[in-house]
Amino acid sequence: MSELDLITETPSSTPKVNLLGLTREQLEQFFVEIGEKKFRSQQIMKWVHHFGVDNFDDMQNVGKGLKEKLKARAEIVAPTVTHFKESTDGTRKWVVQLDAKNSVETVFIPDGKRGTLCVSSQVGCALDCSFCSTGKQGFQRDLTVAEIIAQVWIAHRSFGTPEHKGARHITNVVMMGMGEPLLNFENVVNAMHLMRDDLGYGIAKKRLTLSTSGVVPQMYELYDRIDVALAVSLHAPNDELRNELVPINKKYPLKELMKACHAYVDKATDSRRVTIEYVLLEGVNDNFEQAYELIELLKTLPCKINLIPFNPFPHNPYKKPNGMRVRAFQEVLQKAGFVSPIRTTRGDDIDAACGQLVGQVQDKTRRSERWQAKINPQVVEVRPAKG
Ligand code: SF4
Repeated sequence: MSELDLITETPSSTPKVNLLGLTREQLEQFFVEIGEKKFRSQQIMKWVHHFGVDNFDDMQNVGKGLKEKLKARAEIVAPTVTHFKESTDGTRKWVVQLDAKNSVETVFIPDGKRGTLCVSSQVGCALDCSFCSTGKQGFQRDLTVAEIIAQVWIAHRSFGTPEHKGARHITNVVMMGMGEPLLNFENVVNAMHLMRDDLGYGIAKKRLTLSTSGVVPQMYELYDRIDVALAVSLHAPNDELRNELVPINKKYPLKELMKACHAYVDKATDSRRVTIEYVLLEGVNDNFEQAYELIELLKTLPCKINLIPFNPFPHNPYKKPNGMRVRAFQEVLQKAGFVSPIRTTRGDDIDAACGQLVGQVQDKTRRSERWQAKINPQVVEVRPAKG
């Protein structure tokens, strides 16, 4: 389904197209369909994405006639922000309400001149990685293109439309929030086209990262559809442990995942590296033997390894390893020649880790109850989820 099909109903039942979710090509097509010149789309994109405007009357260089036409046929509608928190370290977090039942989170992390926005692609997630707060909430639905790009739009507007002032706050975007982006492939690809577009958010290809837990078929397709950086949530150096931590590994085991990573790097025309994400869980995946296994697994793949000490959340059995243990693991990788920075947790005071804040609000499938029952059977009585 194209975003043009995603029409909303006004009280008078006039169908309107939400311009927020249209790529440049789709917006051009829209203008042709309403009898206007294609280049009008450029004006409108600047107003919507650069200046954060959601009212046609505020578009100063658009004529009255076109404004009236647009008001009759289109709208610019973003979801509502229901919670906003800003950490003492500058991290910002939004809970964005998509509809009566569903919300997602978006997090902005400043780091010197870099500002990274972590964007969600699904409400909840079906993949149920054992250490992940979002996975415990179950899967509800995919986000539309408008709902994905609205997260960038909302964050961008929160800085007071910086293009006016020449400053740029969001320099990087990672599709690493709630959900598995490759399982919402078409919408994520279109939203990333808007993020990359100069008339959208102008994010450079190396600064726009899609993070996957290893949906192998779509990994092969990704580079042909859009050139962005690839990150893989690995978290284990062998199939036995990865089957437990990242269950999609049972479907696409490490051999296939590594093949897909190599194919991605080989397709790129520049010197590309895959970012490997490795959440360190005390006593589970953080010993020396596992570090050596990881080296063996990744020795031929151009990559860097982000080491992320686990960020604990309620009713989860895993623990964060202490700093010495993390540094010892890092040292083994570094001695083998891997770039392996330790990613420190940001925004702890606002529950900035993926899925934590929204998880306090909703759990539709009772997966977290089942999880609690598994780790503490005395305390929780599990009732069947209502269909
Ligand atoms: S880590 Fe990612 S893929 Fe795994 S359950 Fe969480 S959101 Fe889904």
